[in-house]
Amino acid sequence: MAARRAAKPGRRRARAPADPGLLTVREFQRWMEERYGSRDRERGIDRTFGWFVEEVGEVSRALRKGTRDDREREFADAFAWLVSVANLAGIDVADALARCYGAGCPKCGKSPCACPFIP
Ligand SMILES: [Zn+2]
Repeated sequence: MAARRAAKPGRRRARAPADPGLLTVREFQRWMEERYGSRDRERGIDRTFGWFVEEVGEVSRALRKGTRDDREREFADAFAWLVSVANLAGIDVADALARCYGAGCPKCGKSPCACPFIP
């Protein structure tokens, strides 16, 4: 995972920062809606989900034989398409993450997870 850069003191955050890595999940989801929401709605959830699945395949290929830059791009693309699908499904990803993972492992409730290890 790329190191996160700290925000420069006194610098005002733009509506769509040049460095999306500084966005929270909620901000990123809103940013995706602003940038791609109308196109995503025109494409529809089934075809948008298809793009997400294709991007997951590209993550797999990048993990096997890609460069670090390839992997970063494919992780970003897959996450962005997943967020587009969430927008179309009316899912707030930040709320879902908090609800499912905010109190530890969703199965055992512990952090770190204490579930039996399944290789
Ligand atoms: Zn667990």
